[in-house]
Amino acid sequence: MGFELNDRVVALNVQLQAFMDKHIYPREHDWHEWCLDQDNLWVTPPWFDELRELAKAEGLWNLFLPREYAPWSPGLSNVEIAPLFETMSKVLWAQPVFNCNAPDRGNMEVLAKYGTEAQQKQWLDPLLAGEIRSAYAMTEPQVASSDATNMELEITRDGDEYVLNGRKWWTTGAINPRCKIMLVMGKSNPENPRHRQHSTILVPRDTPGITLVRPLRVFDSLHSPGGEAELLFENVRVPVTNMIKGEGCGFEIAQGRLGPGRFRVAAVFTCLT
Ligand SMILES: Cc1cc2nc3c(=O)[nH]c(=O)nc-3n(C[C@H](O)[C@H](O)[C@H](O)COP(=O)(O)OP(=O)(O)OC[C@H]3O[C@@H](n4cnc5c(N)ncnc54)[C@H](O)[C@@H]3O)c2cc1C
Repeated sequence: MGFELNDRVVALNVQLQAFMDKHIYPREHDWHEWCLDQDNLWVTPPWFDELRELAKAEGLWNLFLPREYAPWSPGLSNVEIAPLFETMSKVLWAQPVFNCNAPDRGNMEVLAKYGTEAQQKQWLDPLLAGEIRSAYAMTEPQVASSDATNMELEITRDGDEYVLNGRKWWTTGAINPRCKIMLVMGKSNPENPRHRQHSTILVPRDTPGITLVRPLRVFDSLHSPGGEAELLFENVRVPVTNMIKGEGCGFEIAQGRLGPGRFRVAAVFTCLT
């Protein structure tokens, strides 16, 4: 199989490399100093948003979204995106400068692929514009979460609403004040076959009943400004229109989200090794 890059991708990669040289590498020290200061928890440095605006103005924005998601996509295929991910991922905090970071990119892809028009207008548009951030809450402390069919958070229908009860952890980004929406996976149809028991539902971050139990540490770091949260859901109510695709589609959505995510993580590791 040939992996020759076309002229557009080569030019984009040159442009991206120039952006890295001019704006990202010179700020590596500043970034780490900022993050080490406990007074800056969950906040990005003042220059960070300026870099995002610059990247957007240069068209180095949302490059992760493959061309089948027109009109939102900048029009590249997954193979074409790979070398751009290698370039931008040489510095670990650079992906969000280009609005290409997890968990937002996977969440945007889910909304583009499975969302209703109303869900896309309310949540996808501001995510693509970089105005808000999001989180994906699947993993639970009491089960082996490598297997998405093990999730136990209860999603119960009550009239025009769904009610959520359960616990999540390792929810990246949920502590950040810019996080406005979460995609939460839970069990809605325990009577169904194993791979049709779960659903993924949109839960605004400020919905009553969600408690931030604690920020988690990775190798003793809080990972600010991203961060991973343990969250408690107690009688959290959202309208039935917040269901993504339909009841029982949660496992399908988790796999649809993970596939491209793995591919882009592979591109990151390629550039670090
Ligand atoms: C930095 C970071 C960010 C994260 N962000 C998110 C996020 O945003 N949202 C989210 O939902 N989750 C997130 N996670 C959680 C991550 O997705 C889970 O840790 C992962 O899915 C593994 O689940 P687990 O921790 O329950 O491990 P387990 O499933 O308990 O696995 C533990 C070990 O057992 C092995 N194992 C499990 N089952 C079997 C089996 N049947 N047979 C053989 N071996 C097995 C696994 O391979 C692994 O080595 C994050 C984790 C980290 C570290």
